[in-house]
Amino acid sequence: MSLIKPAENWKHQFALLMTIGFLCTGIAFSAASAASRGPQKGQKKSRSGSVNVEALQKKAFACYLQRNYVEATKLFKECFTRDPEDVSVNYYLGASALFSSDLKAAEHALCRVIVMTTPDSEFSSLAMKSLKQWRSQFHGIEPYSQIENGQLKRWDKGKGPIKVWVSNGLQLPRGFVGPELDSNKCKTLYSMFENPNFFKQLQTVVHYVPQYRDIVKSGINDWGWVAAEGIISFEFVDDPTKADVLYFWCPESGAGSVGRTFYPWTRTDNARCIVHIETEYLRKWGSRTPAELRKTSAHEFGHVLGLTQHSTNINDVMSGQGKTVTYREMTSYSASSAVTKNDYATLRALYELPPDYLYQPLNR
Ligand SMILES: [Zn+2]
Repeated sequence: MSLIKPAENWKHQFALLMTIGFLCTGIAFSAASAASRGPQKGQKKSRSGSVNVEALQKKAFACYLQRNYVEATKLFKECFTRDPEDVSVNYYLGASALFSSDLKAAEHALCRVIVMTTPDSEFSSLAMKSLKQWRSQFHGIEPYSQIENGQLKRWDKGKGPIKVWVSNGLQLPRGFVGPELDSNKCKTLYSMFENPNFFKQLQTVVHYVPQYRDIVKSGINDWGWVAAEGIISFEFVDDPTKADVLYFWCPESGAGSVGRTFYPWTRTDNARCIVHIETEYLRKWGSRTPAELRKTSAHEFGHVLGLTQHSTNINDVMSGQGKTVTYREMTSYSASSAVTKNDYATLRALYELPPDYLYQPLNR
């Protein structure tokens, strides 16, 4: 039985043909892709740079136009292997796979389109429309863009687990606490972290309760499935000099947020990811603190894993509500849940795509 009803099929085909018309008037696959990943990327070439890739794309597209979706899916899958950064390849792979009832391939490809483009791009709108139109087949997933200044960033998953160290209430030295810490100062800290004695001199933050550390670890473990799914793995370490990700505490972040994540400076020696959790909020939350702290921790670890952009869906753990939370907005923030299928689909797509920046674990 056909998955697509005739009326829906026609409607969808029309939307696709509108895009095809757009592409056929001189805007090739790769140019459309470049527009989605930011102007600084320039005109995208096929990754291999060979004429064969272009010929393959043309062949795949011809099959698509002939409605030979099974063959088009097969060819677009090959195009994706050779040039995964091309958004048009991802989109037409998703559409071909959908029309040939290869739902798994369709879901992966359409999610990648949304993650690798800005929400206002044409391909993003079409991909989201497909996911919504076949909502029950795709379990209602709504991934969100991870494009920041035209770029994608994530960890190098081939370099072993990310090592995470959660301090037991320690705060960084004066000049680096809460709002005093900025991205540039993180560079200074990287060399300080090389000395084991540095950590012995640190003081415990005010309002700290020893249980906080285990709660933060629970929030991090809410992402535990990423290893089982083969996306990326992480593990806790007791030695901070070996950690890729270090959690510290501060009285106030000064940014109106409970947590804050500083990404490792790329192309910098011994770069680490630093996370701040603010205890002032925890104290004011009272009995709600364990649940809220766990969500905060899960949210920040989503950032750590590479989800730089927030979801507009309040139910997602990466909901933007977490970014600008104030004491008055806490009710809406509390409505956000743990990691959702949207967070999952977004992270999975991010790790299926080649990033512009790759964070390297220290591997110690
Ligand atoms: Zn955030």
